Amino acid sequence: MKAIASRLPALEFEFDCECGASDCDVTVALSAEEYVAAHDRGDPVFAPGHRVTEVGHAKQARKDAKELRDSAKALRAEAKQQAARARRNRPPRSMDDIC
Ligand SMILES: [Zn+2]
Repeated sequence: MKAIASRLPALEFEFDCECGASDCDVTVALSAEEYVAAHDRGDPVFAPGHRVTEVGHAKQARKDAKELRDSAKALRAEAKQQAARARRNRPPRSMDDIC
């Protein structure tokens, strides 16, 4: 989405309203730029007059948790790689360094 936003900032898309109501099937016309800006702020996209419901809150919270888990996973993978690299570059001098 961000790649599209940088190339076609004024292009409008139809986004599903994110109020989370089960009977809501309203779409919102937003430019790619507006949509990305809203998501960077952490704001859901709402149709006019719609507000977040309990279901929407739960959905958003689950999404946030998943994103946090994903970035934690990426960080751990990176840390592992750096540790492996550090070990290769610096031969252990004592048993403490090996562990
Ligand atoms: Zn809605």
